[in-house]
Amino acid sequence: MALVVQKFGGTSVADADRIKNVARRVVERHAEGNQVVVVVSAMGHTTDELLDLASEVATTPHPRELDMLLTAGERISMALCAMAIEERGVPAMSLTGSQAGILTTAQHGQAEIVDIRGDRVRKGLEEGKVVIVAGFQGVDPTSRDVTTLGRGGSDATAVALAAVLGADECEIFTDVDGVYTADPRVVPNARKLPEVSFEEMLELSGAGAGVLMARSVEFGRRYRIPIHVRSSFHDGPGTWVKEDTMEEAIIRGIAHDTDETKVTVHGVPDKPGVAAGLFEPLADAGVNVDMIVQNVSREGVTDISFTVPKASADAARDISARVAEDVGAGGVDIDPDIAKVSLVGAGMKSESGIAAKMFRILSDHGINIEMISTSPIRISCVVRGTDTLEAVRTLHDGFGLGSTGGDDD
Ligand code: ADP
Ligand code: ASP
Ligand code: MG
Repeated sequence: MALVVQKFGGTSVADADRIKNVARRVVERHAEGNQVVVVVSAMGHTTDELLDLASEVATTPHPRELDMLLTAGERISMALCAMAIEERGVPAMSLTGSQAGILTTAQHGQAEIVDIRGDRVRKGLEEGKVVIVAGFQGVDPTSRDVTTLGRGGSDATAVALAAVLGADECEIFTDVDGVYTADPRVVPNARKLPEVSFEEMLELSGAGAGVLMARSVEFGRRYRIPIHVRSSFHDGPGTWVKEDTMEEAIIRGIAHDTDETKVTVHGVPDKPGVAAGLFEPLADAGVNVDMIVQNVSREGVTDISFTVPKASADAARDISARVAEDVGAGGVDIDPDIAKVSLVGAGMKSESGIAAKMFRILSDHGINIEMISTSPIRISCVVRGTDTLEAVRTLHDGFGLGSTGGDDD
């Protein structure tokens, strides 16, 4: 008897019919003699709708109350799933993150899972039940307040639960057939990948490929849980995210991210300690700085540009303005109309000329590069937001990543 964790995203539980479809799939796995734990997201766009509601009643909703509100989304889908499974004659029990013993840090909206007790999950399984756990949420054991794990957090719930329960399989059911060479909504001829390494998937997710939350990939890598990303609407294999892949591709895929803002501090005195004086208070405020570029110094002053998530842009602007004033810098500019486009592939480690080819393709299409950053297996360029689609599509073509119309599996 195997233990299977199956996670269903928002589109997969968007209405009553889709919840019945989820119940059908779950009951099938259960009927094969498996123990099944199901993790669900909130129905459809519920999380976005709840966020909109909160912003209608408060300019800066209290983070504790916002988490109280958002966790309600997953509570609705978990109970409906349990009912639909029971309707098919299989005993089922839903649990909130807190009831499932998912313990997190205290940081509302971005809490991290630190431990999973899971006693009630195990007990439910021993009693022959399908156990449905609300994704994206946990509880801070110190305050006993509920917390959320950040957008896309149900993926992290699923893989962390699979690790703690020692599951044989972790399946992430979503609205695409697997992980593609680029977002298939943006690149129509993107190709489904049979497999991706944890290392590559971490870079793709971190660079904006929203199909899997980066933290879920980290759990998969740390606890060696292969993750099967597949369609909740069709059968057939999806993409295996795992330790090693058969083939080491030079470029595995392209990711893009339009969720960052560029901050530039002008005329910063070029002397030791100034960068630390800027980035320390940003770190203290929990602002997650991504790319950083410092320009060549002229006459003892320089410009420092960096990118932050759009959600942290106001905090980054206020802190930068304060530091600029303290050190006698020229001023601060905020530019939200940017996008980051990234090439990812483990084979890049041993291949030269990839960056040059990327820059040439972009320049041939008149796309200006504003910032560049690299890791051993990733090259990212910041471009104008209006150039995003063209940049992704021309790079995808230029590196020959598209499907030729044949079956890739
Ligand atoms: P769920 O609600 O099931 O968690 P998400 O919307 O979070 O679904 O993730 C699935 C979406 O991720 C797809 O609809 C697709 O638009 C997007 N996506 C971005 N990059 C990729 C990629 N490389 N491969 C597949 N999907 C991707
Ligand atoms: N419902 C949450 C979100 O929309 C969590 C998730 O779907 O994974 O981000
Ligand atoms: Mg998701």
